[in-house]
Amino acid sequence: MIGHENRSHALLSASGAYRWLKCPPSVLLGEEFPDEESDAAREGTLAHELCELKLRNYFFTTDYGKRKMNKDIKKLQEKELWQNEMLEHSDTYLEYVKSAALSFDNQPYAAVEKRVDFSKYVPDGFGTADCILLGGDTVWIIDFKYGKSPDGRVSASQNPQMMLYALGAYETYKMLYPIKNIKLSIVQPRLPDGISEWECTLEQLLEFGAYANQRAMLAIDGKGEFNPDHHTCKYCKARAKCRARAEKNVELAFFIDKKPPLITNDEVGDYLLKGADISKWMHDLINYALQECLSGRQIRGWKAVEGRSTRTWTDEDEALKALIDNGIPEAILYKNVPLTLSQIEKEIGKEQFEKYAVQFVVKSSGKPTLVQEQDKREAITLKVSANEAFKEQVV
Ligand code: SF4
Repeated sequence: MIGHENRSHALLSASGAYRWLKCPPSVLLGEEFPDEESDAAREGTLAHELCELKLRNYFFTTDYGKRKMNKDIKKLQEKELWQNEMLEHSDTYLEYVKSAALSFDNQPYAAVEKRVDFSKYVPDGFGTADCILLGGDTVWIIDFKYGKSPDGRVSASQNPQMMLYALGAYETYKMLYPIKNIKLSIVQPRLPDGISEWECTLEQLLEFGAYANQRAMLAIDGKGEFNPDHHTCKYCKARAKCRARAEKNVELAFFIDKKPPLITNDEVGDYLLKGADISKWMHDLINYALQECLSGRQIRGWKAVEGRSTRTWTDEDEALKALIDNGIPEAILYKNVPLTLSQIEKEIGKEQFEKYAVQFVVKSSGKPTLVQEQDKREAITLKVSANEAFKEQVV
């Protein structure tokens, strides 16, 4: 098994392609900052390892049987970030891959956790594709994503990371398979409706390859235009200190040239779009400045101080015992509170939840939320229609 945490990263990585294609100078600028890894990313790595085991067992059962797989799963379960729900989500991924494999006329060739080399298009470019299926004239790249935030939904449509993997797969297998069709799928099982699919022709893929090559050459030379925007900057290592992002956000936040005293609804929409990065940028700036102050460096006009302090027990068991021994009733000291619905589902798994508890679940409508037009959810309004108003009067 590939050590997922040791997957090496290329300067122009496939996972960062969305950023460097839009903002080529971000590549050299980001080199000045240390690598970052969040708990969510480590969690994703663990879930990927589990997916890999299940796929290997499915495609290469003779070499990697159930006993070996279960032994390896046990090892993963001992890891700190393990969650039981990973078993279920990796099954959703496995089921998707199985149905994709079965849709080929003949059993496809399968590569799991395959390192692909797309350096013909992007200098030194390589990455690791979760699953590649090949059969007839089709290559199908399937990627697992463990993110659960609807804001982090990843679409397969023209997804540059997946297209770079597809270019790598094409270069590796083109002598063996007459590849003409490219299929891309993303399985993000923690989101409802978390499957995204897209297809293109080989010509479209190669056209993208030529475009990626131009942008990569700019990136390597530190050239090209900066393109600050909330998607582009989200994972950029320079995001707190980047001047282009700072200037754009400051300009938007403080110097918008408003002409009439009231702005129109169209302008509200435009400002929301243009300003989407402002609060994230402020957050990144605050975090950066705090770290600098804590490291003893100067940020003009600011300093780090101790926040509001909290009190904790030195020994909780002993403290509670002392209170009970001195006549304080246990009922005052302890609360017997059930876990929330989602916590219970996470603990016992979807299957048991569906079996014993689903009949007690009622789903209320969520709080109205403002999202961008392309969001898949249906638009709502609180406006009463003429029909509804009329119905009420008749009653
Ligand atoms: S912060 Fe944004 S604009 Fe600045 S280099 Fe990074 S991606 Fe480009």
